[in-house]
Amino acid sequence: MLPTTLDEAVAALSAVPAAVPVAGGTDLMAGVNAGHLRPAALVGLGRISEIRGWQYLDGEALLGAGLTHARMGRPDFSALIPALAAGARAAGPPQIRNAGTLGGNVVSAHPTGDTLPVLAALEATLVVAGPEGARREIPVSHLLANVDMLRPSEVVGHVRVPLLHAPQTFLKATGRTGPGRAMASVAVVLDPVRRGVRCAVGAVAPMPLRPLEAERWIASLIDWDGQRGLAPEALAAFGDYVAMACIPDPAPAEEGGEAPALPPAAFHLRRTVATLARRGLGRALA
Ligand SMILES: Cc1cc2nc3c(=O)[nH]c(=O)nc-3n(C[C@H](O)[C@H](O)[C@H](O)COP(=O)(O)OP(=O)(O)OC[C@H]3O[C@@H](n4cnc5c(N)ncnc54)[C@H](O)[C@@H]3O)c2cc1C
Repeated sequence: MLPTTLDEAVAALSAVPAAVPVAGGTDLMAGVNAGHLRPAALVGLGRISEIRGWQYLDGEALLGAGLTHARMGRPDFSALIPALAAGARAAGPPQIRNAGTLGGNVVSAHPTGDTLPVLAALEATLVVAGPEGARREIPVSHLLANVDMLRPSEVVGHVRVPLLHAPQTFLKATGRTGPGRAMASVAVVLDPVRRGVRCAVGAVAPMPLRPLEAERWIASLIDWDGQRGLAPEALAAFGDYVAMACIPDPAPAEEGGEAPALPPAAFHLRRTVATLARRGLGRALA
């Protein structure tokens, strides 16, 4: 089935409850090829033009779920939402970026999904199409935490993100050269109007983590009306604060006892997160 509107896609999914939507197919077909998934029918979203671009709405952008990573990586999109463009450019090799979409990345909700920490830092919201023309909104963080899930026959139409007109960064470590899944990733978003720093760490947990105390602490040190620069020591302390919040020391076995040492792999991951967070904030403030 190849619907040309969101409502047609919802109707097709309602008509065949075992059908599954497919956008670029990079995640879904990998599951089918590996024998993990056997969808009874597929509803292709690739011909729905209303979800392939973006539009502006009261200081926000409404991004089509069908935007490919390749499209989001281009300079015009990068000028709009730099961290999301950087995340899209980091998402796999070119053939995957040409087919893989924003909506597929969010709905797959893989911990290493490169757009996810960016959407978490931006506090993005999904606009979901349901039966009989219904539309409802789900914060991306609620979907990723399984607080609010897609209902049968619902399709993600758009992703609503604020346009902050300020520097943003996304950095990813893969543990290898060339494209690869994230070992850790960090998105940093400056919000000068609210004088806030928003940061999310990807790939180290089932969903992106927000180190809220570290965000508040560093925002209080920034001279928002001046040069916005920070001393190297403050940037390093921010990196450590973020990393400790996301990869804490193990709890002691008994109350009052000594905490066991962090396993070497977790220690390495913590150092990687600290470096990404320090560099990400440093570049955003530079
Ligand atoms: C070799 C390889 C490397 C990869 N590397 C990376 C990487 O580095 N970083 C990264 O983030 N990802 C990576 N991926 C994963 C994948 O490319 C992305 O997650 C991509 O964004 C998925 O989008 P898609 O359109 O292909 O989704 P699909 O495969 O079409 O769909 C994925 C899931 O989302 C559902 N879905 C899709 N669109 C919608 C919608 N609009 N509404 C409701 N449900 C929907 C589908 O039913 C399915 O369950 C890689 C994949 C491969 C095969």
